[in-house]
Amino acid sequence: VKELNKVFDSKGSIVRAVDNVSIDIAKGEVVVIVGPSGSGKSTFLRCLNALEEMDSGAIAIDGVKIGHSKTNINALRREVGMVFQHFNLFPHMTVLENLCVAQRVVRKRSSNDAIVKAKELLTKVGIAEKVNEYPSRLSGGQQQRVAIARALCMDPKVMLFDEPTSALDPEMVGEVLDVMRKLAQEGMTMVCVTHEMKFAKEVADRILFFDHGKLLEDTTPEKFFSAPKDPRAREFLQQVL
Ligand code: ATP
Ligand code: MG
Repeated sequence: VKELNKVFDSKGSIVRAVDNVSIDIAKGEVVVIVGPSGSGKSTFLRCLNALEEMDSGAIAIDGVKIGHSKTNINALRREVGMVFQHFNLFPHMTVLENLCVAQRVVRKRSSNDAIVKAKELLTKVGIAEKVNEYPSRLSGGQQQRVAIARALCMDPKVMLFDEPTSALDPEMVGEVLDVMRKLAQEGMTMVCVTHEMKFAKEVADRILFFDHGKLLEDTTPEKFFSAPKDPRAREFLQQVL
């Protein structure tokens, strides 16, 4: 990511949601993004798979540049998995259908291949028995694990998580973080926005701290949690720890 900028015009006032952010993320790295509400974490993440169109700057994922052409964006999104706070499963489809549809349409897999892959990933996230359920009949933690499995079905090169546990009841947070921890251990490249500081400490290779759209810290968890350089990062940590 090079000199990325995203500005919103919010009722006449200009908001620099992402303000000149540059960063290199290596294959296999687990990066956790933290920062106050409104600091631009989601906007940054959404720029990475072109859910937001950047105003200026450059982003490339495994050599594929995000441009403005539709084909390019589709090519990029095939390689980038995203998991949202509110799961965003297709409510009218069973778990299995949720996992198979993009495999067939986007990856052009046969139904059989898609089903084999779906079942493999449902087993991985620990809910193989829910294969024929509808999302509304699952707990929040189960729905989020389905959402993770659905993203993984596409064999993404990188996984983006935007507060994947923030909408969950406390007792379900652990099961989702366990799946994410396992993915990290397997070497998945991950960029996660989360308020789970214990997870950040234990799993992240790097912590990015955003404030007012700016990337103010890019450091190891050890350094970030023991001695953050930026005063705003110190203030933030006092509030969340
Ligand atoms: P939170 O922790 O609350 O999720 P965040 O760090 O993810 O916050 P963003 O959602 O990226 O923050 O928002 C960054 C800034 O951009 C905020 O000031 C927000 O109000 C503004 N913003 C985001 N999306 C839009 C939009 N579609 N239109 C106008 N302003 C927006
Ligand atoms: Mg957000």
